Amino acid sequence: RLSMNPRERENLDRNDDGRARNILVFVRVRPMAKKEKEVGSRSCVRIVNNREIYLTEFANENDYLRLKRLRGRHFTFDASFPDAASQQEVYSTTTADLVEAVLQGRNGSVFCYGATGAGKTYTMLGTFDNPGVMVLAIKDLFNKIRQRSYNGNQTVHLSYLEVYNETVRDLLSPGRPLVLREDKQGIVAAGLTQYKAYSTDEVMTLLLRGNQNRTTEPTRVNETSSRSHAILQVMVDYQALDANMNVIRHVGKLSLIDLAGSERAIATDQRTARSIEGANINRSLLALSSCINALVEGKKHIPYRNSKLTQLLKDSLGGSCKAAMIANISPSNLSFGETQNTLHWADRAKHIRSKVCDPCEETMGLPESETKKAELLLEVQKEN
Ligand code: ADP
Ligand code: MG
Repeated sequence: RLSMNPRERENLDRNDDGRARNILVFVRVRPMAKKEKEVGSRSCVRIVNNREIYLTEFANENDYLRLKRLRGRHFTFDASFPDAASQQEVYSTTTADLVEAVLQGRNGSVFCYGATGAGKTYTMLGTFDNPGVMVLAIKDLFNKIRQRSYNGNQTVHLSYLEVYNETVRDLLSPGRPLVLREDKQGIVAAGLTQYKAYSTDEVMTLLLRGNQNRTTEPTRVNETSSRSHAILQVMVDYQALDANMNVIRHVGKLSLIDLAGSERAIATDQRTARSIEGANINRSLLALSSCINALVEGKKHIPYRNSKLTQLLKDSLGGSCKAAMIANISPSNLSFGETQNTLHWADRAKHIRSKVCDPCEETMGLPESETKKAELLLEVQKEN
């Protein structure tokens, strides 16, 4: 059984010892693309149940039945979505809870992580016919605020911005780069558009237009750069009655992030600090990994200051904030390396380690050291 019932979903929010879990990690496999089929690629992943996914370089449907003899690895996440999972299903399991927290005055963030073409933008933005997490979250917010608002005095403000090569830009009103400033509320992008939204219908149009303003690679003018991070900030402010009939004001913020492609976050062939200064490294993506690792390890110091992306997320990640990571992967064996990196990254973002099922699993050397190496090189770069 692949989908999750509400009770199972609720169980994810607490550890066995009853402590709240503030970072949940999910994986979503997209359908095999036409191009991938045409070149005869096979599927290298298999959703085992609603939480477990199996990765093997050699598996196809028949091989899977002889699983014991294959080299591969099981990963367990808070949920694993097969290619048939609907946008609504992904939204309900990963993000609906965060929307509820934001309505109660907390902050939260949702990330899509994965290689270019793995389905991040589809998951976050989606299409007119199949809107993604961003649009479904706003729809849900509108409905719930309408039900709960005490006096109709409510606002939902949207900001949509991009971090590209450590430059922050307003996607709703493109122009000069924005400067990040620290004020009483935290870190703000000076002059950023705050769009007052009234209905869900206009939001999709707004976001699609915003996406057209994302930076493109000079050689591929019609495609969004794989190095661009898009951040939608949804600021909610409304008043509701509590159980004792007191008027309570709720102010919360939800950040929804379509991250840059993970494939070039860390170039595997770099040997010197010099090569990393070039186009090989995405500082924001790496800094995000460092922050998540620090949070997962329970460190006191979280290195938010290391990049523009993490500065912008300072009030939405860590502390009492709730976060959801969605790792997007292609099923094709042609993307095996990227998929392996993505699953490994997602695995490290969890508190609970995957159970190891098969002794031969250890033979798949996973590139854990790559992150450490790149982190060191980043330090070197900073000092120069
Ligand atoms: P990314 O943003 O990670 O580079 P995209 O979201 O653009 O990747 O997805 C690449 C292609 O695959 C797009 O054509 C997209 O429509 C399609 N796609 C991705 N995920 C799904 C899905 N779950 N169902 C159907 N099509 C998908
Ligand atoms: Mg994309």
